[in-house]
Amino acid sequence: MHDELDLLVDLHIDGARQGPGSDDTTRRAVALSGLDKETDLTIADIGCGTGASTLVLAQDLDAHVTAVDFLQPFLTQLEETARQRGLADRITTLATSMDELRCEDDSLDAIWSEGAIYNIGFALGVRAWRAFLKPGGVLAVSEITWFTSERPPELEEHWAKEYPEVATASAKLAVLEAAGYSPIGYFPLPETCWLDRYYRPMQRRFAAFLDRHGHSDAALAVVEAEQHEIDLYERFSDFFGYGFYLAARTAD
Ligand code: SAH
Repeated sequence: MHDELDLLVDLHIDGARQGPGSDDTTRRAVALSGLDKETDLTIADIGCGTGASTLVLAQDLDAHVTAVDFLQPFLTQLEETARQRGLADRITTLATSMDELRCEDDSLDAIWSEGAIYNIGFALGVRAWRAFLKPGGVLAVSEITWFTSERPPELEEHWAKEYPEVATASAKLAVLEAAGYSPIGYFPLPETCWLDRYYRPMQRRFAAFLDRHGHSDAALAVVEAEQHEIDLYERFSDFFGYGFYLAARTAD
């Protein structure tokens, strides 16, 4: 595996999540989605990391969840947690890249993806995955979103470089409609999902992480990049964050 990926796995594998989110907001999205708790459901959780959302879905719904990520160490960690919680028979892991994912057409009741679709781009991802959903099946994705119509230039410049697809919720909903989905709901993730659930625990792992890697230039660069992202979030969280989008596949 590439060295930098090894470092990222090492920094993130002990986190409850590998991106902003919380069990509460996963549950809020489940409630908004209208997914039926009594029906046997088939779900894919794409870019699942160590599977925080996978575990909530498997526990709260009568579901079988295929947990997809391209980093096997995260999936191995998820398998271990699933065993500990008695959920192993409801979760299957699949190590593959989300742009090469092949599922049977019309086979899924829901596609879940928290803080991960940006890796292939929102518009490309929602189009590529649509065929896997049954008509009426639910797409549930969180995605970087502008919370205001005007933003400080410094922030716009950062995201223009990092992820030019960042947009307002209304623009993201329009992308979903154009891709053959009918919006069900949207909510912004609260700040606690970023700070208390993701960034603070990560910052507490920095020192041991740097020690494990002998304060190498590569390890320092990883920490610096994360800290830069944290600083940016702390300064500009009024203007951007994650939006959680729920939409149903249209009939065709
Ligand atoms: N959904 C998890 C993880 C979010 S972090 C959570 O909310 O905690 C993004 C995840 O996407 C990481 O686990 C990363 O390994 C995975 N990922 C990144 N690029 C990917 C790709 N091309 N295919 C599959 N997974 C990918």
